[in-house]
Amino acid sequence: MSEDFFKKLPKVELHAHINGSISESTMHQLVEGKQITYNPASLKFKKGETGTLKEVFKLFKQIHEVTNNEKALYKVTYDVIHEFAEENVKYIELRTTPREELSTGMTKTSYIETVLKAIRDCAKENLDIIVKLILAIDRRQTLQVAMDTVQLAVKYREESKGVVVGIDLSGDPNVGNADVFIPAFKEAQKHGLKLALHLAEVPAPEETMTLLQEIIPDRIGHGTCLQPDAGGTRDIVQFVESHKIPLELCLSSNIINMTVPGYDNHHFKFWYDLNHPCVICTDDKGVFSTSLTEEYSVAADTFQLSREQVWELSYNSINSIFSDDNTKQLLRDKWKTLKDNVQNH
Ligand code: 5GP
Repeated sequence: MSEDFFKKLPKVELHAHINGSISESTMHQLVEGKQITYNPASLKFKKGETGTLKEVFKLFKQIHEVTNNEKALYKVTYDVIHEFAEENVKYIELRTTPREELSTGMTKTSYIETVLKAIRDCAKENLDIIVKLILAIDRRQTLQVAMDTVQLAVKYREESKGVVVGIDLSGDPNVGNADVFIPAFKEAQKHGLKLALHLAEVPAPEETMTLLQEIIPDRIGHGTCLQPDAGGTRDIVQFVESHKIPLELCLSSNIINMTVPGYDNHHFKFWYDLNHPCVICTDDKGVFSTSLTEEYSVAADTFQLSREQVWELSYNSINSIFSDDNTKQLLRDKWKTLKDNVQNH
């Protein structure tokens, strides 16, 4: 299959952290002329490089110094949307952790409003992409902060007329215990917000089972260590499978941060063979030097997927989006219209 096929393939992106998705070109423009000592090329893993989770999270800290003001955040969000649209992503749910920065006066409110403005401005340009937003809770935060994020999500879902669709749990999986956030997740569910939780990125079977049973998330991020041979349990697999909880799978991210030893070993195969809903995603296309086009291509190469299987993988991702049936139907119709043209590449 040609690169052109993967690029032309209409795609859905459901796991993209805004500050991890910054292209090198955008980063260059942000750093230029600033009092920041980073070389933009050092704020990402180059092809073939790997790093520990600790190193990955150190990079995010540095990136946050670059995007510590509304102007930079606006540019980043605007550019990221354009870049995904260019590679034929037709629907994306971006996620980001609302942040306040005392040094620049950025508040959580101005943070969210800036991201929503960039999304609105892109919509005005009639780009062929639908953009939604998920607000993230960082595992390092307190329950009170998590509750505040849920309240902000409720408020901005109304104000944005449905652009905000849900809540994410992310941040260093080796830090803290996600159980403490259960009241916040329940509050989010009470208000009809969807939940996309990073679960089992590292072996944590007790935490994983507790969250699954208490919350039943709408999607799982990574789910690297759900299976018994990766530090999970059969009960966990059975729970996820019987509840058909879709998995957001980010192959290169897991290889680069060494939570999976190689593409061949990626848990995509385990779940795909079970016919479980799997959505190929990038995670952090900037930090991990990838694109959704590349992630589809590498999945097809590694697991020897046919053109039709790749198409189905992308088409079936529509089932897992956090939008209503009308939007799903609109996307399905778009995929059908594009199919002949794409399949000929
Ligand atoms: P932001 O929320 O600032 O837009 O995006 C960066 C943040 O996303 C990071 O600080 C981290 O909390 C979260 N993040 C990005 N990639 C990963 C990942 O692979 N695993 C986890 N657990 N969190 C991540």
